Amino acid sequence: MLKIGVTGSIGSGKTTVCKIYETLGIPVYYADNRGNYLLQNNENVKAKVLSAFGEGIYGPGHIIDRALLAEMVFNSPAKLSTLENIIHPAVFDDFNEWFASQKSPYIVKEAALLFEAGTYKELDKIITIAAPLETRIQRVISRSQITREQILSRESRQWLEEKKIEMADFVIYNNDRQLLMPQVLELHKVFLSLNHEQ
Ligand code: ATP
Repeated sequence: MLKIGVTGSIGSGKTTVCKIYETLGIPVYYADNRGNYLLQNNENVKAKVLSAFGEGIYGPGHIIDRALLAEMVFNSPAKLSTLENIIHPAVFDDFNEWFASQKSPYIVKEAALLFEAGTYKELDKIITIAAPLETRIQRVISRSQITREQILSRESRQWLEEKKIEMADFVIYNNDRQLLMPQVLELHKVFLSLNHEQ
């Protein structure tokens, strides 16, 4: 079973594309959502976060205060790396467990930092979803309360889109000029035939 990675910069349309694959019956693993879930629900992860960041990281109801955690790691590469070293192996195991129970010609794994985190190496083919920065900013602003500055700050901590395009096996252009659906369907056909050849 082929493992296809979907990545791209903030607001590029990763989730939108993955939802289309889901409608085609393809199982999708949303790594970022799953990482957040494990942070709140996996006892092993919670214990490690507690020991690394202290009791104060818990908000009301014994739930990890994600805003506080984000603030703590924001300006500290050492703390960010500590957190990543807890979350990434947990997501890795969780993904493998999920993958083992799938029955499909191929599966899709969505992750924002697939290249940055090196996890692309565990996948067979990678799609980068690309869209112009201004389009992405406008889409994200109309979706949530986030400001332009916050988007640009997040953007500055990720690799440039050009680099993600360069490293990808396939690119889906989610801009105002190219239709999304035919590109997704075309790759669906490619993955089905690649799976056939395996
Ligand atoms: P994030 O980086 O925040 O996880 P993402 O890459 O998963 O974002 P989406 O959530 O799929 O991106 O898209 C961002 C927003 O843009 C969403 O509100 C989505 O509905 C909208 N959007 C995506 N593609 C298009 C499109 N082709 N036309 C119009 N709106 C779009």
